[in-house]
Amino acid sequence: MKPPTLNYNTVIEEMLGEKAFAFIAKGRELARKGYKVYSLGIGQPDLPTPDHIIEAGIKALKEKFTRYTETPGIPELREAIAEYLNTRYGSDVKPSEVIVTPGTKGAIFLALLSYLRPGDEIIIPEPSYPAYSEISKIIGVRRKFIPLKWLGPDKGFALPIEEIREAITSKTKIIAVNNPHNPTGGLFSPKQLDEIMEIAREHNIMVLVDEIYDNFVYDNAEFKSMISYEDWRDHILYTNGFSKTFSMTGWRLGYLVVREEVARHLPKLAVNIWGCPVSFGQKAAIEAIRGDWTPIREMIKLFQKRRDLLVNKLREVPGFEVWRSQGAFYVFPRIKKLLDEISMDVDTLVNYIIDKYHVILLPGTAFPDKAGKDYIRLSFCTNFETIEKGVERIKEAVKSLIK
Ligand code: PMP
Repeated sequence: MKPPTLNYNTVIEEMLGEKAFAFIAKGRELARKGYKVYSLGIGQPDLPTPDHIIEAGIKALKEKFTRYTETPGIPELREAIAEYLNTRYGSDVKPSEVIVTPGTKGAIFLALLSYLRPGDEIIIPEPSYPAYSEISKIIGVRRKFIPLKWLGPDKGFALPIEEIREAITSKTKIIAVNNPHNPTGGLFSPKQLDEIMEIAREHNIMVLVDEIYDNFVYDNAEFKSMISYEDWRDHILYTNGFSKTFSMTGWRLGYLVVREEVARHLPKLAVNIWGCPVSFGQKAAIEAIRGDWTPIREMIKLFQKRRDLLVNKLREVPGFEVWRSQGAFYVFPRIKKLLDEISMDVDTLVNYIIDKYHVILLPGTAFPDKAGKDYIRLSFCTNFETIEKGVERIKEAVKSLIK
């Protein structure tokens, strides 16, 4: 008989999460063996958290602000977040509608666990950041993946509005919208977001909005936040966080915004899972929002230059169709022509490039189902030299495979 400790919920085995991690771990292993590795895999800014934010964290520690805080976060931080959203997006969020969480992942988890029941359906435009799907899976929710539309290298990706509309059933509770978008670097137009909102109103369903990349928008493109809809309280579960904008991935701070009547209850769930968000980090987060944004603006300008270099170099690789992404910090080339020509699937190709050419990148299949099978994801959270040399090597790898 199996010992009961082996009798864990096997849904966990089916969860994705290892894939992206496994490719990145492979890079670390190669580096340990002494190889020069070029990493275009990782999804976090390479620049450190700005000093004034770190100082605020240290000050809080020195003042011994090290105990449990209120479960939905300290009042000053909830105020700062509401003020940030309202100033920036013209919304009317109240501090009592903000719940601070351990990372944006915490906010996504809290939102999905609070609203979904086994047998419900969630619509996920795909490729997609895996958390929406994987958390839904463990709750026992049916996931409907709807492929994003590829409009070609000049126009990039669009939300599949009609297909989303057709996928809705009486069991559909949530549509997940991440904008700017990981992994495609897509930025969805205000018109497309209006259409999603229209669908939500028509069918009386919710939109899980993830705007963690809201500051990573390039070419002065227009970004519309879904918290700016007047009726957001009826349809929006809004998530965002500190990881990307302020380069605070390790601080683990994010937030969920939801109407007051609900925000009052969700801490009962949060208190039983994590108790409260990190105490001293919350003080640092206030400084992040209210302090000097100069380093953030500089970082975003730098990222735009890196994106340009990465896109221009990738366009030299045979078989790659490359859209100049407008948001987040990823480029997502379509490589179908190449894969067809060399009769290889994307995972095999990515493994080949990592093993033989020591460049880390991710297959589109890591996001998280099938729609990414003709794509790879490269991150430009790295220096110019890594981008330059990394893509040179990718080009060599590709040339070695073409007969
Ligand atoms: N949403 C998206 C789209 C992401 O790309 C990430 C991080 N890669 C997260 C959420 C989670 O971020 P956090 O570190 O705040 O949990």
